[in-house]
Amino acid sequence: MPLCVPTPADDNAPVINGYDTSILPLCARLAARVNAFLETEAETPLLRAVQEQTRVALGVISSALDRYSLDEISLSYNGGKDCLVLLILLLCALATYKKHALPKQLHSVYIISPHPFKEVDAFVDESVATYNLDLARYAMPMKAAFQRYLDEHKKVKAILVGTRRTDPHGQSLTHFDITDSGWPAFMRVHPVIDWHYAEIWAFIRYFEIPYCPLYDQGYTSLGGTTDTHPNPALKAGEGSNKENQSQSFRPAYELVEDHAERLGRDW
Ligand code: ATP
Repeated sequence: MPLCVPTPADDNAPVINGYDTSILPLCARLAARVNAFLETEAETPLLRAVQEQTRVALGVISSALDRYSLDEISLSYNGGKDCLVLLILLLCALATYKKHALPKQLHSVYIISPHPFKEVDAFVDESVATYNLDLARYAMPMKAAFQRYLDEHKKVKAILVGTRRTDPHGQSLTHFDITDSGWPAFMRVHPVIDWHYAEIWAFIRYFEIPYCPLYDQGYTSLGGTTDTHPNPALKAGEGSNKENQSQSFRPAYELVEDHAERLGRDW
């Protein structure tokens, strides 16, 4: 079933011609799939681990939704694999949101790299349409961008971020961390902080979630064009077609080790 087919409305949702135009139908469809996954007997240890990580992440998102109203919550989204998983989990958690009717779009913020990949920007555009994102975009340094975002979205108090433990500065983070001093003040929420690299990919592939095509070309973490390369750990063997750059690296999901994820990044 396509993701964006309209569904008959509930009582409080924005309704046009009898159809719910909020994100609820999308949330309900995603939650049905994720809940079905959580109820199955997973076939591999990796999928069992993904089930457990999913339960923990949904719990963290639910407590964020208890602590803050939806108007006060945003998502830091750049089209990367980790925030993609986080976005899907946020939408799932919203399927049972009871505080009030869901909006038509989700608050989100994207800081555009000084040298963006066209594939990343295109995938972000696709995400905006598929997942109904109200995405604010800023082409400026991270700190200034978040300050501008908070100035322009005065209600936002908490931002969900897809940082994981092995990312730079991820080591000592918890599920809820106020920003460091010197940064614009907001609560950073880290529902996938303890997910391993392989678990992120297992989730994406199990649910067949479309992802940025650069990952199929050996990129394992996405920055800008000047500081991001295909991951050398994924360089294909001698038999590969060397004429074709996109075929000389294996896809990102074939990498297993967390520590090798950023070998294609210069920082
Ligand atoms: P990948 O590591 O494959 O690029 P990712 O972008 O999701 O995936 P990181 O680059 O490690 O993960 O970044 C961690 C998180 O920080 C992201 O998931 C996202 O929530 C946030 N983030 C990073 N860069 C940006 C950005 N330019 N704009 C908005 N959010 C960002």
